[in-house]
Amino acid sequence: MSPSSSSTSVIVVAAGRGLRAGGGVPKQYRPLAGRPLLAHTLAALAQPGVDHMLVVIHPDDRALYEAAIADLPQPVRDMLAEPVAGGATRQASVRAGLAALAPEPPRIVLIHDAARPFVSADLIARLVAAAREHGAAIPALAPTDTIKAIDGIGRIEQTLDRNRLRCAQTPQAFRFDILNEAHVSSYKAGNIELTDDAAVVEAAGGAVQVIAGEENNVKITEPGDFARAESRLAADLTDIRIGQGYDVHAFMAGDHVWLGGVRIAHVRALAGHSDADVALHALTDAILGAIADGDIGQHFPPSDAMWKGASSDHFLADAVARVARRGGMIANLDLTIVCEAPKIGPHRDAMRARIAAIAGLAIDRVAVKATTSEGLGFTGRREGVAAFALATVRLPEVAA
Ligand code: MG
Repeated sequence: MSPSSSSTSVIVVAAGRGLRAGGGVPKQYRPLAGRPLLAHTLAALAQPGVDHMLVVIHPDDRALYEAAIADLPQPVRDMLAEPVAGGATRQASVRAGLAALAPEPPRIVLIHDAARPFVSADLIARLVAAAREHGAAIPALAPTDTIKAIDGIGRIEQTLDRNRLRCAQTPQAFRFDILNEAHVSSYKAGNIELTDDAAVVEAAGGAVQVIAGEENNVKITEPGDFARAESRLAADLTDIRIGQGYDVHAFMAGDHVWLGGVRIAHVRALAGHSDADVALHALTDAILGAIADGDIGQHFPPSDAMWKGASSDHFLADAVARVARRGGMIANLDLTIVCEAPKIGPHRDAMRARIAAIAGLAIDRVAVKATTSEGLGFTGRREGVAAFALATVRLPEVAA
C-alpha cells in the first residue's frame, strides 16, 4: 500500500477490560451464539470495500484473541493484520493502531468498537464514501427521548433542543492523514480522555460530517444485551436441525471417570482410547448429526495415536466450531446418562457449566439428566455407562 492508494483499513478497538457484561472474560471475548463477540464483529466488518483489519487488544488477551479468530472463514482471517497492544485509554489504543498502520497508510481508516457486531455493509459503504468526500464522517441517530441537562443533585438545569442532538455510533471513518495528525496533536496538547475519534478531530479543529446511523447497530454492554443480540441472530437462522448422539464405554480397573467434562472419583474407570467421556462423545455426535457432518470416529479415528488419552473437550469444541463455520448456532443440548454408579446428581450442575463453557452457550441451554436402568442390561450389571444426547442447531437458509 502507498499513501496514494485507495485502500481502506479498519481498526477494531478491543483492549477494554469490559467485565460488566458478565461471563468472567472481557465482553469482546464472551460467547454470543456460540462464538466470541469479537468474531461476530470482524465477520460483519469483512465487506467489499474493506481491504484490511487490525485489532487492538489488551496485552494479556493474546490467547483469547487467537481463539476468537480461529474459526473465522479464511477470507476474513486473511484480512487481519497482527494485533497490536492497546494503551490505558480508548484514545491511546486507537493511537497505537494508527501507529501500526502509519508505515503503509491506507487512504481511509474506520475505527470501530468490538462490541458493535451488527454493523451493516450499507453503513460501511456510506461511511467510506462520506469520508472520501468530507475527510471525516460518523454515523449517528437522533434521540427519540427529550434530553435534560442536570446539576450535581439531580435537578434539571436545561432542556436541550433535541433537533440539534445526535447519538454517535461507530464505525467512524476518516482520511488516514486527518485522523492520525489529530491524534498526535491531541496527545501533545494533553487531551487524552476523549471518548470517540470524532472528538479527537474536533479537538484538533477539524470538521466531521454526520450521516444517518442504524438502529440495529447497537453496542453490547449489559448482560441483557447478549440475550437480545442472540435472539436477533437466531431470527435469521431459520433452518432448524435436530441431531442425536449415543455412546457406550465399558468399565475397567481405575479410580475415577470423566463424565460431562468433569472428573469424578469412582471405584472403576471407563475404558477408551481418549479419556472415555461417554457423555461428551454423545453430545459431539448429536451436534455432528444435526449438521449431517459425519461422526466422532470419522473426525477423530481411534486408530490415530494423537487422540490417545485426549481430553474429550477437544471433540466437543470441534463439533461446535463446525456449526460456527456454517454460520449457525446451537440452540440447546440435552444429555441423558444411564448408569447405576457413580451418582450423577451431585455433579449435574458442574457438568452443565463445563459443557456450556466448551460449547460457548448460556447454561440454561444445557440439560444434564441421569437415570439407572433398574438393574437391567449392561448398565444395570454395572458393566459400563451409556449416554444419549440431542442437539438443536439453527443454520442460515442456503441461498437458492
Ligand atoms: Mg466414545
